[in-house]
Amino acid sequence: MNNLESRLAKFLEYREEQQQIRERFSLESSQSDQIEIDGQSFINFSSNDYLGLANNLSTIQLIKEQIDQLGIGSGASHLVCGHHKIHEILEKKLAAYLARDSAVTFSTGYMANLAILQSLAKKGDLIIADKLNHASLIDGANLSLADAVRYSHCDLEALESRLKKQATQKWVVTDSVFSMDGDIAPLDKIAGLCQKYDAFLIVDDAHGVGVIGDTGRGAAEYFGLTQKELPVLMGTFGKSLGGFGAFVSGHKNLTDYLIQFARPYVYTTALPAVIAAANLHNLSLIEQDFSYRHRLLENIEYFKQLCSQKKLSVLPSTTGIQAVMINDTAKLLKLNQRLKNAGLLVGAIRPPTVAKNSDRLRVTISAAHSRNQIEKLVSCL
Ligand code: PMP
Repeated sequence: MNNLESRLAKFLEYREEQQQIRERFSLESSQSDQIEIDGQSFINFSSNDYLGLANNLSTIQLIKEQIDQLGIGSGASHLVCGHHKIHEILEKKLAAYLARDSAVTFSTGYMANLAILQSLAKKGDLIIADKLNHASLIDGANLSLADAVRYSHCDLEALESRLKKQATQKWVVTDSVFSMDGDIAPLDKIAGLCQKYDAFLIVDDAHGVGVIGDTGRGAAEYFGLTQKELPVLMGTFGKSLGGFGAFVSGHKNLTDYLIQFARPYVYTTALPAVIAAANLHNLSLIEQDFSYRHRLLENIEYFKQLCSQKKLSVLPSTTGIQAVMINDTAKLLKLNQRLKNAGLLVGAIRPPTVAKNSDRLRVTISAAHSRNQIEKLVSCL
């Protein structure tokens, strides 16, 4: 029998054999520290809602007031008729918040990363990427006509050896905070190497914005990097900003260029204005009120302190991403099920998302968690 169903069944069976089948749970509540699935309540340690803003009451109230004017769908791409005044305001506010010239919003972070690499890196160029970069950066490099090489995770010597290669233009691309490990790339040193070898630096700050830096403004603030040193900065609204969508920020020529040439910008429906309004409101909140971030930092510290008392093996990380290493898929799945039975939802991260034998529980800490919730998690672990 040669039909599509049996062809696909083979791939699915293989995935099952590898213990790599992913399942979707259907939430019956809004996104929060406490969520409902199939009538059961879970403490949620698996979302990227680091500041607890995904379900913020003042944002919900504002959207209720504005929905009549903003409507639901955006109708078309930004270059047709999907670009709303609110996108413009959000972009200006974001650029000011990040102390950069300009910003352009994207419908998702995945698309922003495709857009950056597909449009900026040309044939004859070389993309030099950290081995643990997010999948969207890997896919962006595949979409571009440039050559691409990887360097071992955060390894400056390996990076420098690749920077010595000849290319029309070299682009170094890295996450700021790595999504599965929670560690921070040494961007000050990477920026120094980029200057030395005349390469441009691209940083995905999806897990940095709102979290790292003295006032939570992300990687550039954390390392004191100017726009000249870090010319292409990408971030998302779907994590600490509690909304949806993404942005790229830099010189006005960068954002003007992306608007003209980035296919994942030009050929997709714009982020709905109502979502842009929610992003804008949450951005204003974290700009004015540092208490969300302070609560997050206190919770991270508390989790780490309890883990160290219990001698749990957690990767070194000062961010909301705390990886408890298990290193075995069967063991990970069993443990994760036991956590679920105890009412705790934690990300079970397996290959191919991470390397073989580096299976882990990806605990994400939020400002919304209480000390009791964190204590319960660590005692169950
Ligand atoms: N970059 C990183 C580092 C991410 O973790 C993610 C989301 N998991 C993205 C990009 C993609 O962002 P989005 O979810 O908005 O598509």
